[in-house]
Amino acid sequence: MSALRDKLLAQIADQGPMGIDAYMRACLLDPEHGYYTTRASIGAEGDFTTAPEISQMFGELMGLALAQTWMDQGAPSTFLLAELGPGRGTLMADILRATRHVPGFHQSMRLLLVEASPRLREIQRAALPEVDLGWREDLSALPQHPLFLVANEFFDALPIRQFRRAEGETWQERQVEAGPEGLRAGFGPARSMPVLDYRLGDTNPGDIVELSPEAQGWAKAIGTHVARHGGVALLVDYGGWRSLGDTLQALYQKAPADPFQHPGEADLTAHVDFAELARAAMPALATRLETQGVFLEKLGITARAQALAKGLSGGALDAHVKAHRRLTHPEEMGTLFKILALTPPGQRPPPGLEPGITF
Ligand code: SAH
Repeated sequence: MSALRDKLLAQIADQGPMGIDAYMRACLLDPEHGYYTTRASIGAEGDFTTAPEISQMFGELMGLALAQTWMDQGAPSTFLLAELGPGRGTLMADILRATRHVPGFHQSMRLLLVEASPRLREIQRAALPEVDLGWREDLSALPQHPLFLVANEFFDALPIRQFRRAEGETWQERQVEAGPEGLRAGFGPARSMPVLDYRLGDTNPGDIVELSPEAQGWAKAIGTHVARHGGVALLVDYGGWRSLGDTLQALYQKAPADPFQHPGEADLTAHVDFAELARAAMPALATRLETQGVFLEKLGITARAQALAKGLSGGALDAHVKAHRRLTHPEEMGTLFKILALTPPGQRPPPGLEPGITF
């Protein structure tokens, strides 16, 4: 029996049904029972694995893309190197190793990690022993230096709201209620939602769309800073351009599960709507949305994979070949995962990416 389920049922009995966003926030970050605060086990042995945990090549190529962009912008002598939601710290460790020999890069950087989970902060500390680390809860009051930022599978963990189009121009919000056997999803009353007016043109009654006010807040903070002070943000996640349909999903002990069954014990994520991020990040410019597979190929992952393969044999070589395929193949992560960069107006996109549309 989940302690968080009892806590949420008591809250619903007291205050009525809760939004999907409040439910996700509680499941992931409740100080006592949240999945990220108490258990999140990322990596080969954990509940879920991520690109940096699959192969060092992912972080190495992200590092080179950041360093190239830093040079393209005149190698500013002080800059912020930031990561949102660093998990086990593997991506940042690979970025730092890959950029070690870029002249001036390490001397100029100030490292900054945004992590909500005290447990994961400790793991990150241990993974990055040789650097000065500063953690933050958010991006407010950043020092006024160019910001070079990465986020991998961060935005998919942010709470979303879900709406179902009803008749006419009204919407019903999906909510979490008390059912006979615990928590279940239902829908609130139909009402007009001016914030969704722009979706009236591309949806029909019955369609579900998702919004993430929290994701918009992060994108706005990044976009404002990058447009004013320079830098770039590389955002990698699964999702697409404009949300359609219910994408909330739970992973419980490595297997897909009902998102309302194991609050606090399962990882909950939703597809990222990159159009929503690009719009919120203005006046920074968004590049064209690219698939992870094409982006990594353009940055030379095949040559890097061949170089690393020379030192391997037997099972290690097989694992390495599989990891390369997993990151790039369309039937694995290559197409589902996308990358979007946010750049200052007037700067060229990072290597591997093309200029995008403007709103
Ligand atoms: N980037 C890592 C981990 C992805 S898991 C990887 O690729 O392996 C999501 C990460 O985001 C975790 O570190 C989690 O604790 C953090 N996180 C989730 N919501 C957050 C929030 N609102 N504020 C700060 N960190 C958050």
